[in-house]
Amino acid sequence: MSVKNQPNKKRRVGVLLPVPLGGAYDYALPEGVSDIAAGSFVRVPFGRRQMTGVVWKTDLSGEGRVDDEKLKEISEIYPFSPLDAENRRFIDWVASYTMSAAGAVLKMAMSIDDVFSGVGETEGFAKNEGAVPVAGFRMTPAREKLLAAASAVPESAAALARKAGVSASGVQALFKAGLLRKEKMMPETFETPNPAFGGVVLNEEQQKASDFLKSKINAGFSVTLLDGVTGSGKTEVYLEAAAKALECGRRVLVLLPEIGLTGQWVERFRRRFGISPALWHSDMGAKKRRETWKAVLDGRIRVLAGARSALFLPFSDLGLIVVDEEHDASYKQEDGVIYHARDMAVVRAKISDVPIVLSSATPSLETVANVNAGRYEKAVLHNRFGAAKLPDVRLIDMRRDPPEDTASLKSFLSPVLLEHIKNTLFRGEQSLLFLNRRGYAPLVLCRKCGYRFQCTHCSAWLVEHREAGRLECHHCGYSVPVPEACPVCGETDSLASCGPGVERISEEIQVRFPQARRLIVTGDMTSSPDRLNEAMRRIRDHEADIIIGTQILAKGHHFPDLTLVGIVDADLGLAGGDLRAGERTYQMLSQVAGRAGRADKKGLVLMQSYEPDNAVISALACGDAQAFIQAETESREAFHMPPFGRMAALIVSGEDRSTTEQAAYSLGKSAPYMQGVRVLGPAPAPLALLRGKYRYRLLLQTERNVRIQNVLSEWLESVKIPSSVRVKVDIDPYSFF
Ligand code: ADP
Ligand code: ZN
Repeated sequence: MSVKNQPNKKRRVGVLLPVPLGGAYDYALPEGVSDIAAGSFVRVPFGRRQMTGVVWKTDLSGEGRVDDEKLKEISEIYPFSPLDAENRRFIDWVASYTMSAAGAVLKMAMSIDDVFSGVGETEGFAKNEGAVPVAGFRMTPAREKLLAAASAVPESAAALARKAGVSASGVQALFKAGLLRKEKMMPETFETPNPAFGGVVLNEEQQKASDFLKSKINAGFSVTLLDGVTGSGKTEVYLEAAAKALECGRRVLVLLPEIGLTGQWVERFRRRFGISPALWHSDMGAKKRRETWKAVLDGRIRVLAGARSALFLPFSDLGLIVVDEEHDASYKQEDGVIYHARDMAVVRAKISDVPIVLSSATPSLETVANVNAGRYEKAVLHNRFGAAKLPDVRLIDMRRDPPEDTASLKSFLSPVLLEHIKNTLFRGEQSLLFLNRRGYAPLVLCRKCGYRFQCTHCSAWLVEHREAGRLECHHCGYSVPVPEACPVCGETDSLASCGPGVERISEEIQVRFPQARRLIVTGDMTSSPDRLNEAMRRIRDHEADIIIGTQILAKGHHFPDLTLVGIVDADLGLAGGDLRAGERTYQMLSQVAGRAGRADKKGLVLMQSYEPDNAVISALACGDAQAFIQAETESREAFHMPPFGRMAALIVSGEDRSTTEQAAYSLGKSAPYMQGVRVLGPAPAPLALLRGKYRYRLLLQTERNVRIQNVLSEWLESVKIPSSVRVKVDIDPYSFF
């Protein structure tokens, strides 16, 4: 029987809350409200607080999980557009695929807890300068702070409260006393991009690719790999497709790796569309976040470029999604809801029935396999734009041309590389030395007793940072000052730094080329886009001759005077030996190599390697991408590895070693045993101790046609895990630590 027909029964709906606790909760509609749209944003009592959630189910007849007497009422219905069905389906889909609670995914979609405080209010409070309070008004310290926070520009009560660091309750009193006045607030405006503003004249192959991508706009779901060497104009090409989508009145979402959101990309966008795009990244303030989120919900943002979390913004009427640098590892989120933004973006496109473009110079094996299987289409750019030529790549066999130490210097650069750096300096051009390792040295030990400095919370060596004078753990951030003496044997002057980090390479350069201007660029700078942009500007404006940097320099930047790239340790990434070590090394090194000679000057890449015969290294040296992908694909296929089979990791962690170990072993004992399914482990994780937690790993491998989530949930349900132990599920794992 329908609830509506029972006048004395409350109308019941399911409200999903942004908490990692399972599904929707039952609530009653408020008195006098007879109906509500699915997707409506509502405020509800939850435990002892109020929380904002989304109406997930509007018809719960016969499904009630709470007695009528205990059923709580929705306290407020926000006057916003509801979260549309596509967004809701997407959230449910991601939750089910990643085996997370739908509420945890909703939390990502609502971005920040108080996304609703203050936004959407049309009137705010401004200060009545010089006003005298009405009689009977009592000033309190909290009210004083609120008044001091107010200005001539109207702001919401919540915003004033946040600024003042007190509750908003005094705002009304100040208003009634005449000290504040109410005034209309203008919502933050986002400029409208003009698809006809600019645009370059495309060359023939660019035009072909652009026409192909444009033909996909307004034509339903499709996935296209835009495969083009670095500098071939992929950005220009996909911006044309974005322009077409805009002309059709649709919205465009561009996902970029976090560090791709730099001034350079924004500048390109501005040249094409006349305005800056709306941005979404981890470094935004709470206010900007709220404004942007709300503007997306209202459809006031036409194009947004963002890091992976932008995928969960509440877009309606999407017309195109672009994933730039689709192979990039930063698209995988490793904590909370563990997901891969590229793969989920494809799902988002499918649900919204729109095209998606995956752009890369070094596409992932997953994407290549999807192209080969006919699931994805492909547009190719073979040549660098204009006069720019791909650089020559040469190998330095470090066994034949080893670095030559001097009396006072341990050297890491081969004489061959040093000679080229010298010539590049002489020509007034720039060199980039690439080493994907921050700090001075990855290990410090005592020469007398052999003691190695290790993190107390992780099974990892402490990395020496000489400029900061500290030993630092790169996993948990723990650090100590570099000691004078060995803490074990007490010997002084016995500590030795082993191996190089970028600081040490910089030191060698200083000794060898004292006149050259050096610049170190590392991931430490990603915490501040301004610092990173400033470093990029200094390189572009040739304020440095030799740049020493980590992978942060590998991505999409144009440095016209940069003609030499030296890869200090090409073998470094291969050591880990996990599934994608070869692929990742290949991608990273080709991206770095792509920095050389991007203008009219020809570039040279020199790779230092002790294993020149390694398949990855030799493929890079002869520029034979196809051969590498082919070999890698064949070996993955032979071993049923992704993308030819499915994989999921279980990471079992806890503070007590033996409880954690036992939990891991009981999971191992009840591992599923069936056709097409295989379980490896448990084994201590390579990082067996991380942030004070002991860690064990199990790996589940299945054939492609097995629904791995079903196998996993049955398995996990069959084992009782103590509450002090956490089991993290990682579908399609990328990290094996
Ligand atoms: P990719 O993304 O493939 O690395 P980009 O789109 O960054 O390549 O293009 C490389 C450089 O060449 C950029 O500075 C871009 O503005 C320029 N460029 C590419 N195509 C054209 C074109 N048709 N006309 C003018 N400049 C172009
Ligand atoms: Zn640590």
